[in-house]
Amino acid sequence: MLQKTSHFMRQANLIDGEWVQADSGRTIDVTNPATGLKIGTVPKSGAAETRRAIEAAETAFQSWRKTSALERSKLLRKLHDAIMDNQDALAELLTIEQGKSLFESRGEVASSAAYILWFAEEGRRVYGDVVPSPWADRRILVTKEPVGVIAAITPWNFPNSMLARKLGPALAAGCTAVVKPASQTPYSGLAWGALCEEVGFPKGVVNIVTGSAGEIGDEICANPLVRKITFTGSTEIGKILIQKSASTVKKVSMELGGNAPFLVFDDADIDRAIEGAMTAKYRNSGQTCVCTNRFFVQAGIYDEFVEKLAAASNKLKVGSGLDEGVQQGPLIDENAVEKVEEFIADATAKGGKVVAGGKRHALGGSFFEPTVIADASPKMKFMKEEIFGPVAPVFRFETEEEAVSLANDTEFGLACYFYTGNLGRAFRVMEGLKYGMVGVNEGLITTPEAPFGGVKESGLGKEGGHQGIEDYLDTKYVCIGGLGF
Ligand code: NAP
Repeated sequence: MLQKTSHFMRQANLIDGEWVQADSGRTIDVTNPATGLKIGTVPKSGAAETRRAIEAAETAFQSWRKTSALERSKLLRKLHDAIMDNQDALAELLTIEQGKSLFESRGEVASSAAYILWFAEEGRRVYGDVVPSPWADRRILVTKEPVGVIAAITPWNFPNSMLARKLGPALAAGCTAVVKPASQTPYSGLAWGALCEEVGFPKGVVNIVTGSAGEIGDEICANPLVRKITFTGSTEIGKILIQKSASTVKKVSMELGGNAPFLVFDDADIDRAIEGAMTAKYRNSGQTCVCTNRFFVQAGIYDEFVEKLAAASNKLKVGSGLDEGVQQGPLIDENAVEKVEEFIADATAKGGKVVAGGKRHALGGSFFEPTVIADASPKMKFMKEEIFGPVAPVFRFETEEEAVSLANDTEFGLACYFYTGNLGRAFRVMEGLKYGMVGVNEGLITTPEAPFGGVKESGLGKEGGHQGIEDYLDTKYVCIGGLGF
């Protein structure tokens, strides 16, 4: 298996066009969550390597910013093609280090390529303005320029697509980048370095540093050459990065945690809702920021919904992501399993009833059974905290107002979903939910064409859509006077 992926499996940093080890020679082990076995190592780098990567990116920026939008677009198109030409190898690498099924890995790789293609196109439409001037002899121009060096920090749950949403707009806008992938899934991130090299991005435009998160993060925040930080990960770390980057007043984009509600009203198409629920809950074994954390189901259909959700959950095929037909791989590590067990213990102690799964899977390791908990109540932990695992708590509600109020009772505001057959209710509920993204009768809504991002403590900024490139641009006002009119 590793034969196919080995070309992309780089066990080194990419700094200024060179594949290099950490100064100290120290490394971090990377393991396959399905087997618990070591796959390889990556450098355990710190501040010095990060500083060199930032300086390389700054040097490269001086010429990269002068390339035309068309030239950058062509290179990004080549990158898109290279990703798709190597879809299987990249998917295998992702499954081996992350655990998700090959089906989902292929999907993530294709989605990453789609983001790159989208921004290859958007980069050619970075328009400014010519503004009607209040002065007869002056003209007003508004232009957009790349912000400069950006730093991207990404999580382990979508190591390809989270990077694509950052590198795509950054490179299209004319920025250069320093990337820090998650330590548990660094190879997918490093593979982007190999791909960028192969398609001809100049050295220093994309730099990738693995290692100590704290040291790398601190250097990124403190270094004045970095003009923007784009982060996807937990709200806890996002807050630290916002605070630390205040010292150099950087732009920040934050894609943080979620606590997605999934509302099903009495008038909904229940089978469609179950189909959406399965995707919105169990994708990536429940380890996505937009995964449903809380199901709220109206009393009239509650029992039927719970029964059908439990039956569908019991049918999911759990196993190694590399095995044919597997729908749910292992959780990322033992900590994730323990966290899921804590949520279940808390719920059952407070009156919750396990109607599907509920325990570690017979396969052992970090495999866990898809779990449904009926009679969930607001005092249970998952009302406020992100589960990040295959557990579906189902709450009962009576009225529309009650459902919207329960759904909004969280500091998060990333994605939410609801199912109804009533048009008036669809608009009332859509407008009442304080979330950045809403799926109405749909459980999977992410696409490059739409702005992805949260409100409240789920983050700042948007990735995707025509909005996705804005954060990588500075707006400049130019007043041209003395024109002799
Ligand atoms: P995490 O612990 O916050 O880690 C994310 C990244 O930040 C990793 O690369 C990590 O490096 C790095 N990091 C950790 N401490 C740091 C520090 N002090 N300074 C700089 N970087 C630091 O999150 P995770 O557990 O990987 O990911 C799960 C979280 O991401 C969930 O909350 C999920 O909801 C959120 N998420 C959000 C979105 C979205 O679009 N809103 C998408 C996906 C995931 P190491 O790996 O080396 O520790």
